[in-house]
Amino acid sequence: MPSPLINIYSRLPVSFTHGQGVWLFDAQGRKYLDALAGIGVSCLGHNHPRLVKAIADQAARVIHTSNIYEVPQQAELAQRLAALSGMEEVAFANSGSEANEGAIKLARYYGHKKGNDLPHIISMDSSWHGRTLGTLAATGSEKARKGFDPLPAGFTQVPYNSLEAVTRAGDAEPRTVAVLLEVLQGEGGIRPSDLDYVRGLRELCTARGWLLMIDEVQSGIGRTGKWFAHQWADIRPDVMTLAKGLAGGVPIGAVLAAGPAAGVLTPGSHGTTFGGGPLACAAGLAVIESLEQENLLQNAEAVGAYLRDALSAELAGVAGVAEVRGRGLMLGIELDRPCGILATRAMQAGLLINVTRERVVRLLPPLILSRDEADEVVRLLVPLIKQFLADQA
Ligand code: PLP
Repeated sequence: MPSPLINIYSRLPVSFTHGQGVWLFDAQGRKYLDALAGIGVSCLGHNHPRLVKAIADQAARVIHTSNIYEVPQQAELAQRLAALSGMEEVAFANSGSEANEGAIKLARYYGHKKGNDLPHIISMDSSWHGRTLGTLAATGSEKARKGFDPLPAGFTQVPYNSLEAVTRAGDAEPRTVAVLLEVLQGEGGIRPSDLDYVRGLRELCTARGWLLMIDEVQSGIGRTGKWFAHQWADIRPDVMTLAKGLAGGVPIGAVLAAGPAAGVLTPGSHGTTFGGGPLACAAGLAVIESLEQENLLQNAEAVGAYLRDALSAELAGVAGVAEVRGRGLMLGIELDRPCGILATRAMQAGLLINVTRERVVRLLPPLILSRDEADEVVRLLVPLIKQFLADQA
């Protein structure tokens, strides 16, 4: 009988029964080094004792109550995130897309409150903000948007890393209220923004009265070696969104606001049944505690640099390798040709990776990755890349 699952994923033919640290195991007992962490989610790896205990303890007390009532775990997680980011307010959601929907709604509400009934948002080429209609309208990927018109109006995409392009788009659209970007694009191919560009955007947004909204769904929660990737540029956005690693695998999202964006959303203007529930927030608190107590930001920065340098050294001069790039444990290896097959070959070799934008091998391992495990990633991955390129020569 054919599977009743709607056929929206091209899945690799493997499933996992359990995990430990950076390793996943299948039913045959084969082990796989998880260098993708469920697409940047399982930041503490698998079966992390503090996270497992926090989830189990909370589940045994109460899993869900709704936002009709006080949720102390939510209030505490909001405090922790505000302290770590310097942001002033937090609202929770259940995914990255939903967090970004919240950001888009906040920007529109901000516009309306200022008498701008058709507020406009500038976002970036090759960006990825989610698959809901609003976030698709913001997303730069033509492929993801195709077939879903009419998408919500009020978005313009401009070339990434060009301050001039944002300025021009803002000049052309006086109803602009916000600029939305990832400071390190993930799905777009692990493309970092220049720090001067981020600082320039900060100044431009302040000067024009636009909200600077940074999507840290993939790059946040320690992945690049700072709590949030924009902190490398030493700026504070007006809006920031989080998801993925925030609760270590339990679905969660968050939209944070500061400065002109704080106080914009008011009772009844936004909300959710599940968002910020006790279970997800208890998990989020355990993640933050673990990142702090196990020095995982420092680990992500140091082991990430070690892994990037090792990959760069091993792949130096290999024809077909365009670039090794990224920050912390958010790394990409760009080849000069489509290489999606590498995800399958790596899985067969016991390594989990993926390929984004057709030609960028993406690594998002758990932040607990050790140097020895990074060596293992190199040992497994480099021969596959070399063989793939040699076969195609
Ligand atoms: N924003 C960024 C930067 C992402 O990388 C993603 C997912 O990959 C999303 C938003 C959407 O998140 P979700 O898949 O949880 O809806």
